[in-house]
Amino acid sequence: MLSAVKFPGLRTYIDPLTYEDPNQAVHEFAQEIDVSSISIERIIGAGEFGEVCSGPLRLPGKREFQVAIKTLKAGYSEQQRRDFLWEASIMGQFDHPNIIHLEGVITKSKPVMIITEYMENGSLDSFLKKNDGQFTVIQLVGMLRGIASGMRYLSEMGYVHRDLAARNILVNSNLVCKVSDFGLSRVLEDDPEAEYTTRGGKIPIRWTAPEAIAYRKFTSASDVWSYGIVMWEVMSYGERPYWEMSNQDVIKAVDESYRLPGPMDCPEALYLLMMDCWQRERSTRPKFDEIVCVLDKLIRNPSSLKKLVNSSHRVSNLLVEHASVEVDHTTLSQSVGDWLDSIKMGRYTELFMDGGFSSLETVAQMTSEDLRQVGVNLAGHQKKIITNIQEMRVHIINKTTAFYRFLNG
Ligand code: AMP
Repeated sequence: MLSAVKFPGLRTYIDPLTYEDPNQAVHEFAQEIDVSSISIERIIGAGEFGEVCSGPLRLPGKREFQVAIKTLKAGYSEQQRRDFLWEASIMGQFDHPNIIHLEGVITKSKPVMIITEYMENGSLDSFLKKNDGQFTVIQLVGMLRGIASGMRYLSEMGYVHRDLAARNILVNSNLVCKVSDFGLSRVLEDDPEAEYTTRGGKIPIRWTAPEAIAYRKFTSASDVWSYGIVMWEVMSYGERPYWEMSNQDVIKAVDESYRLPGPMDCPEALYLLMMDCWQRERSTRPKFDEIVCVLDKLIRNPSSLKKLVNSSHRVSNLLVEHASVEVDHTTLSQSVGDWLDSIKMGRYTELFMDGGFSSLETVAQMTSEDLRQVGVNLAGHQKKIITNIQEMRVHIINKTTAFYRFLNG
């Protein structure tokens, strides 16, 4: 029998596929609940395998509480039963306040059911659309912080989600957001947003990092890309990423280094963070623990959220094909030395010159690797300069289109 590999303080996710008998995996990770403990009261949604309902669960020695009940509809095949319970084998391995909690499974009677905690406000995308403009920035950042914290936990456990999107986040009555929808390919089969690619396999294009679309390189770094899209969905109250553009046009635009513009009234600091999640080079995207840190800092210091994305970063109609980058010359007319002085990094001016980064146009394209190569070795200084480069990029705006062009893309 396999058991969880234990690292100090953290378990590693075990792929249920490593079990020869899938039923064994389910019972390794999920508790069997007696059917008499549950009553189904309401239907709250439709899943791929059957209705999603809610009702009270009475466990011995515990106060009765509401749960969500996913059912497997009658007439299923053995394979469907296995696929259905697969999600429970994954969910049952997680224990985190921002990951949907599995109470258990009912497999000894029919219908087969998966019991999870009940999330009163349902899925995040419809919740945001229903409450357009109703939350404070701090509330929105709090939701994003929760999602990032759940994702940090999953990435530390070595689990790659592959379908992180607002529709797969659930919200409870306290506005706590929890990551849900676990599985393998079946999650994507189930997702109406997922489209078959030329290389086979179904992928939710608008949420997926370029390397995952191109050659199925799904990693925690591609989850970070999707997280950036979720940030954008949250800050725009559930707007559809890239609006009515076709998936093919989205792939092309992203490949040509265009990115989503900042949502209306979005703090600049949050837009910079999403832009960072959409770095083409996956190793330069922030890690989930860094994202949590940045969001914590912003929450602790709300005045850092006052500065909003400039209105010229937002244009409502898309003119991708006619895009031309208009460089903001007022920003770029500064010398590299003046710019470094202004961020108290003037000591590196000579190194920048020696390394060939003598204009702000070239500096705007620098990566962390370039910084190391010119000789900026202190991590704190690298971070400071990179943050300011990101800020500079935001000032280099394409004034005629809704997209922002990433100069180093
Ligand atoms: P799913 O099959 O997991 O995508 O669930 C389908 C729909 O049921 C979701 O979009 C939610 O609206 C609802 N739902 C699923 N799980 C829960 C839950 N734990 N609490 C409340 N609603 C849920």
